[in-house]
Amino acid sequence: MAGPGWGPPRLDGFILTERLGSGTYATVYKAYAKKDTREVVAIKCVAKKSLNKASVENLLTEIEILKGIRHPHIVELKDFQWDSDNIYLIMEFCAGGDLSRFIHTRRILPEKVARVFMQQLASALQFLHERSISHLDLKPQNILLSSLEKPHLKLADFGFAQHMSPWDEKHVLRGSPLYMAPEMVCQRQYDARVDLWSVGVILYEALFGQPPFASRSFTELEEKIRSNRVIEDFFTHPWVDLEHMPSGESLARATALVVQAVKTDQDGDAAAALSLYCQALDFFVPALHYEVDAQRKEAIKAKVGQYVSRAEELKVIVSSSNQALLRQGTSAQDLLREMARDKPRLLAALEVASAATAKEEEAGGEQDALDLYQHGLGELLVLLAAEPPGRRRELLHTEVQNLMARAEYLKEQVKMKESRWAAETLDKEGLSESVRSSCTLQ
Ligand code: ADP
Ligand code: MG
Repeated sequence: MAGPGWGPPRLDGFILTERLGSGTYATVYKAYAKKDTREVVAIKCVAKKSLNKASVENLLTEIEILKGIRHPHIVELKDFQWDSDNIYLIMEFCAGGDLSRFIHTRRILPEKVARVFMQQLASALQFLHERSISHLDLKPQNILLSSLEKPHLKLADFGFAQHMSPWDEKHVLRGSPLYMAPEMVCQRQYDARVDLWSVGVILYEALFGQPPFASRSFTELEEKIRSNRVIEDFFTHPWVDLEHMPSGESLARATALVVQAVKTDQDGDAAAALSLYCQALDFFVPALHYEVDAQRKEAIKAKVGQYVSRAEELKVIVSSSNQALLRQGTSAQDLLREMARDKPRLLAALEVASAATAKEEEAGGEQDALDLYQHGLGELLVLLAAEPPGRRRELLHTEVQNLMARAEYLKEQVKMKESRWAAETLDKEGLSESVRSSCTLQ
C-alpha cells in the first residue's frame, strides 16, 4: 500500500514527486499535472486507514471551508479526489516552504519583513473572521510562502478550522500548545479570539527566533503561562522605553544632563557634549509632554530650542573631524586589506565595513549603514579573537575600534533624528516657531 515511507502514492492525472512535508495525519507531495499544462501543484494525502471519526470530520471541514473561499493569502484548494487508500487535496504549490523553516534558517526576521508578513496574515484572518471561520491551528508550520524570491504568505492547513460566530464558546482543545491562547490551555473554554493570540506568538517567534513560552511539555507550558513571575525584561526593554516616559522626573533628568552637556562643551569635547545634549533632549521631549502649565511649557520650549541649535552646531564640528579621521583611516584600511588577501572571510567582513562607510555618506542611509556596521563588526570581532599576534592583529584591532566608534556615532545620529521627529510631532501640538526652525539636526 502506498503511503509515507513507501514512496509517493499514485493518483490519476498527476505525477507525484518529492515529499514537501508532513504534519499530524497528512503527507504533502509536490506533483505535476499530466495534462499539457504540466501545472505544478501540492497534493496533501491522508491515508484513510489513519483516519478516525474525528479526523474524517476535520478533513471534510478543511475541504468544505477551503472550497468555498479564495484569497491571495490563503492557499488555494484546486480540487480533491479519493481512492481506496487515500484522500487527496490538490492545492496550489508554495515553492517557498513554510514560515517555520523560513524563520529558522534566518534565525530571526527583520522587523520590516515581519511587519509585511503580519499585514498579509492579518488580511487573511480578517477575511476569515468576516465569514465566521476560525483557523484554530495558526503556527509557522501552517503558513506557507509562495516563493523565496518574492515571498507572499499563504495560510494553510485548515484541518482544525471551524465555523464559529464571535459569541460561540468552544471546549475542544485544538491546535498546538505553544501557540494556544491561555484560556484554551488553562480553562478549556475559548472563542474566536484565540486565533489572535496565536498571531502574537508567531510574531514573537519571527522576531526572536522562538516562541515566548517555549516548553518541553504541556505541564511546563501551563506552569509558564500561569506563572506570576515578574517579567523584568518587559520593563527594561528599549522599545517600551519606560525611562523616557513623560513623568514628573523628566524635566529634572533633562536638566541634570544639560548641565553636564554645557560643562563638557566648555571643556572643548564636542563629541561628548553632543552626545550629552542628545541624551538631555531625549528627556526634554517627554518633559514637554508632561508639562500642563502653558507658561512653563513655553519656557521649556525656548530652552529646548537653544539646546537643539547648539547640538546642531556641535554636529557640524564633530562630523568634520570625523571626516578627517575617516580619511586617515583609509590608508590603514588599505594595508589591512592587502594583508588579508589570503583570508576570504576577513576580506568579506572588511568589505561589509566599507560598504557601511559608503552607506553613511548617502542621505538618509544611517539605519542601513548601522545594520551593515553591526553585521561587519560581528564577523570582525570573531576573526580578531582568532587572529595570532602580529602586525595584522594590531591593524585589525585598530580597525575594529574605529568601526565601533563610527557605529556608536551613527547610533547617536539615528537617535537625534528620532528626537527631532518627536519634537516636530510636538510641534503640531503647538511647539513654537523658534524651536521648529532650529530643530533641523541632520
Ligand atoms: P498537516 O495537517 O498534517 O499538518 P499541512 O497541511 O500542515 O498538514 O502540511 C504539512 C507540511 O507540508 C506543511 O508544514 C508544509 O511544510 C508542507 N506543505 C503543505 N502544503 C503545501 C503546499 N501547498 N505547498 C508547499 N508545501 C506544503
Ligand atoms: Mg500542519
